[in-house]
Amino acid sequence: MNILVLDIGGTLIKTGICDENGHLTQMKEYPTELQNGEKNIIDKLNNIITGFHDYEAIGVSIAGCVDSEEGYIYSSGNIPDLNGLRLKDVLEKKFCVPVKIENDVNAAALGEKYYGAGKGFNDFLCLTIGTGIGGAIVIDSTIFKGHKGIAAEFGHMITHPRGARCSCGGSGCYETYASATALVKNARKINQKYFNGRIIFAEDNQQDKELERVIHDWVYEVALGLTSLIHIFNPPAIILGGGIMEQEKLVHMISAKVKELALESFSDVKILKASLGNKAGMYGAAQLILNGEYYKSGRNIT
Ligand SMILES: [Zn+2]
Repeated sequence: MNILVLDIGGTLIKTGICDENGHLTQMKEYPTELQNGEKNIIDKLNNIITGFHDYEAIGVSIAGCVDSEEGYIYSSGNIPDLNGLRLKDVLEKKFCVPVKIENDVNAAALGEKYYGAGKGFNDFLCLTIGTGIGGAIVIDSTIFKGHKGIAAEFGHMITHPRGARCSCGGSGCYETYASATALVKNARKINQKYFNGRIIFAEDNQQDKELERVIHDWVYEVALGLTSLIHIFNPPAIILGGGIMEQEKLVHMISAKVKELALESFSDVKILKASLGNKAGMYGAAQLILNGEYYKSGRNIT
């Protein structure tokens, strides 16, 4: 069975064809920005999907608050055209195949569960640390959704009461202190040249004692939130994604700090780096279909 997968982000739309054994082929990327006379994002998606053939279902991973049961997008911060849209219905009507949609971090967690660092764990938490902090809760190998399907907004846990303002309108949120954006912001107060993770962790800059302090303070902020989550969920593993986690030593530093902060009986938790990189969302989008009723019932739903 071939599944057309789309991973719709604020900057890029990644696509490909995934078969039921997890082989991802025909991968292509398109800018999310409208171009060539496209009227809106639906117009763009139609153009992209029309370029693919020989698929039986469509799986979509998308940044934002998504009701995956209904295929409804409450809000997608970076792509306002999608807000309030029943994307599943729109695509099913147009392309006459079953469609499943899911929030991007949930999709990435599903990808890691079936094809990546989450293999072998029935329960784990997943966090993507980037511009903000996204979260997913996997229990019994499925995504825990919450009342409206939008659980695991870990980035907006309050770790600093009456702290700095957050983009959500609240203050003191975890992501304001522990996102990659927060690290870069603090590092640039020392030197403007520290404008991304790769430069901050470059070998040449490791003699900068002020930078070392900023990194350690940030690792503490990351570990602080993880420790609360560990005390609530008692997971066997936490998987950390986001470009910043490509820095080899970071996962070890965070893991060591968590072991310092967590109650001893929780300290066997494994802190792992996500292993699928920017393909996790596409693998997860495929798994939405493979876990669904369409595939399980012998593909006789049209
Ligand atoms: Zn917030």
